[in-house]
Amino acid sequence: LEIYGERRASFGPNIFVESQWLPFKSAIDSHLHKTWSATSIINGKAVDTYEVDRQTNQLDKQTVLAPWNHEVSAGEVTYANAEVARQAIDVAVAGQDVWKNVPAAKRAEILRKIAELYEENYAELMALCQVEAGKTMQDGIDEIKEAVDFCRFYADEAERLDDVVHEFTDLAGKQSRQVYKARGTFVCISPWNFPLAIYTGQIVAALAAGNTVVAKPAEQTSLVAHFGAQLMYQAGIPAEALQLVIGAGDVGGALTAADNIAGVIFTGSTQTAQRINQSLNDHAQASGELPVFIAETGGQNAMIVDSTALPEQVVRDAVLSAFGSAGQRCSACRILCVQEEMADDLIELLQGNMAELSVGNPLYAATDVGPVIDADAKHGLEAHIERMSAEPTATILAQTPMSSSSVVSQEKSTFVLPTAIEVKSIDVIGGEHFGPILHVLRYQARDLNKLIDAINNTGFGLTLGIHSRIENTVEHIERRAFVGNTYINRNQIGAVVNVQPFGGCGLSGTGPKAGGPHYVARLMQLSSETVNA
Ligand code: GLU
Repeated sequence: LEIYGERRASFGPNIFVESQWLPFKSAIDSHLHKTWSATSIINGKAVDTYEVDRQTNQLDKQTVLAPWNHEVSAGEVTYANAEVARQAIDVAVAGQDVWKNVPAAKRAEILRKIAELYEENYAELMALCQVEAGKTMQDGIDEIKEAVDFCRFYADEAERLDDVVHEFTDLAGKQSRQVYKARGTFVCISPWNFPLAIYTGQIVAALAAGNTVVAKPAEQTSLVAHFGAQLMYQAGIPAEALQLVIGAGDVGGALTAADNIAGVIFTGSTQTAQRINQSLNDHAQASGELPVFIAETGGQNAMIVDSTALPEQVVRDAVLSAFGSAGQRCSACRILCVQEEMADDLIELLQGNMAELSVGNPLYAATDVGPVIDADAKHGLEAHIERMSAEPTATILAQTPMSSSSVVSQEKSTFVLPTAIEVKSIDVIGGEHFGPILHVLRYQARDLNKLIDAINNTGFGLTLGIHSRIENTVEHIERRAFVGNTYINRNQIGAVVNVQPFGGCGLSGTGPKAGGPHYVARLMQLSSETVNA
């Protein structure tokens, strides 16, 4: 089953040509069984202890297990606490002068060097993405490509925004000009589903702008993040400019509550974004400063299919959008809305297509769908499937079993079987379910507007797929729907940096789109200067 294919690195040499990665597999495998470790890095030093009241205390250390086989250890992680978080902020704030005075061209050069080092160290990065995050080969490749794209694109942005952006001389000879300046220290909180790409994208954007960074990656993927940070320092990012804080949500809370930060860049759940927003508001009321907040959160993404669409293409695109990355993308298709006239045929094709998916060990080249990230995720998704099985208005249409060639124990792993569920309304779904579950909803052509309104009423607005051969229908849907990214007659995932800048509206997030022309600019301050000559 060819469910991948349209992903391209838009920048730099494409070292991962899809059909040619097999020779790299042995290099990747040689890193799979290493014992990786991760700990916070403050001012260039690994942090294993913290000091408070003149006492030195050990930090909590835990072993991380591979989500596809709990008998495989990915490595050891030392988790920071709020005290370490505070120290990280202090160092980053003190380091502002060092980094903002590095010329933009030099900053760009260092970011490009990170891209190069990521490419050179692809085998380690791939192994980490697979062993710690459970990524399939293809997802691991895409992950590294996107991280590399972010580095090169934001390096270009650092140079572009370094110029005077506007100049004006009035009749009396007064000269005015506008220039971009760094803002200060940014806290970057990144998710486990893109443990290298989004993690790197947030950090390098803030660094490109001349800001210092305190990064707090998701605790589930600390090992990938730690290795990525080491490559960043190796590329030339000064110790003062980037602090890495390895820890869970409480540590993130301590960072976003800090007094002296210029802003927060966050990707994760809508609920956490709302909490951060609240904390920044409280902070603003106390200190009078309004920090910048960029959030990329969830989605309840639909694909609308009318009766002129090509069924085989729809099914291919829906399967990729719903089950690629085990459905763990905020862009993933959650609701396939099919015009009644073609629904029966399409469902039959969908069932056939899902039967072909290979679910299992992500290290196998043939695997399409790997595990979900952890037991909490698995239990939540399975509870939803159970609820839907008992729901009178819902029907389970298909569920792909584990692949017989994939030797994994379902008890010692966190696999969720790809499942398609027909529903009679969007309301019954009850919010976002972040995994390989696709809902199918039939609609009547005359109710198209009601359907779009129901999608809008979920409050989310991230991605939308449209499959139709009628231009007017496509335009109509596009105009009425509130979403950040629309994809027409193709899949709806895998936004490419500077090709499809990515980000949503409503409950799906706020701020400029990642990988777009306004992102780095938002992390800078546009300053107007007038000289009375
Ligand atoms: N940018 C990714 C995509 O287009 C999704 C990012 C996310 O899941 O947070 O599929």
